[in-house]
Amino acid sequence: HFHGEAPGLLRPFDASMAERSIERLRMASRIRQAIEQNEFMLHFQPVVETATGRVEKLEALLRWPSSDGTCISPEDFIPLSEETGLIIDIGRWVFEEAARTHVALTRAGHGDLSIAVNVSAVQFQRTDVAAVVGDAIERFELRPGALAIELTESSLMANRRSATAAMRRLSAQGTHVSLDDFGTGFSSMAYLRDLPIDALKIDRVFVSDVYANERSASICRAIITLAHTLGMAVVAEGVENAAQLDWLAATGCDFVQGYQLARPMDFDRLLTFLRPGEAAGVAAH
Ligand code: C2E
Ligand code: MG
Ligand code: MG
Ligand code: MG
Repeated sequence: HFHGEAPGLLRPFDASMAERSIERLRMASRIRQAIEQNEFMLHFQPVVETATGRVEKLEALLRWPSSDGTCISPEDFIPLSEETGLIIDIGRWVFEEAARTHVALTRAGHGDLSIAVNVSAVQFQRTDVAAVVGDAIERFELRPGALAIELTESSLMANRRSATAAMRRLSAQGTHVSLDDFGTGFSSMAYLRDLPIDALKIDRVFVSDVYANERSASICRAIITLAHTLGMAVVAEGVENAAQLDWLAATGCDFVQGYQLARPMDFDRLLTFLRPGEAAGVAAH
């Protein structure tokens, strides 16, 4: 079919391209409307200290409820939000909502917990994230360190000089930075050497079969050693069962996060979860 290609054969291809771009436009305008009409929500997932079961911090996860009672996954609207620049406004809203939540957490007696916000690469490159965090801290009168951020490796790769400057500003103002999905992106050891990174989050693809697959185990062990020798903490994400948890505890992974410990939950359920005596579960291991 490579040879006698008639121009007419291109038509179905064009049509589907057009459909796709119309669908994208429609989706972008729905996202814009969701921002304006305040349709987004945050859920919070505890990050737990492996050795004690103590909740160390909370990760804020964006939720977009749809009319049928389910949520549209961030994985389905964040890429388009990045391409259209809408992620900048979404990101501002997420920081503001995280700050508001921290005020409520503090009132409930949990002000020691920090809230980590996911920052996409586009947002990191196009906005002064340290200033956005600083503004939120000031406006909501939070303690420094009340908000933290999670970046992926790709955030640090695009523009080395501005990424370095941004990381230094974050560090200077006491905003902790974790590297998310560690091990799956394009990384450079030079970044780990030079930048003030507080923690590495081992991607769940390595965690999923860590107790059964010697190659996954080797990678997890190496990440844990790498982090510790550089003075960073390690978090394992996507911990779904006791076998994974036992392995991570025995191997010295500082923190764990996943359905085995707690699912992401709305603020009301979070407060119930945080009531003394209900956050247990890991300490036994
Ligand atoms: P992430 O930051 O790596 O977040 C972890 C994802 O794993 C979350 O998916 C969480 O719900 C899910 N998860 C937690 N525990 C488990 C587990 O035990 N097993 C499994 N299979 N999954 C688990 P979610 O909430 O759908 O978010 C997906 C991604 O979307 C996030 O990955 C993050 O990259 C992005 N995202 C979420 N919220 C935001 C946001 O506010 N801003 C930006 N820029 N990105 C966000
Ligand atoms: Mg994250
Ligand atoms: Mg992650
Ligand atoms: Mg992820």
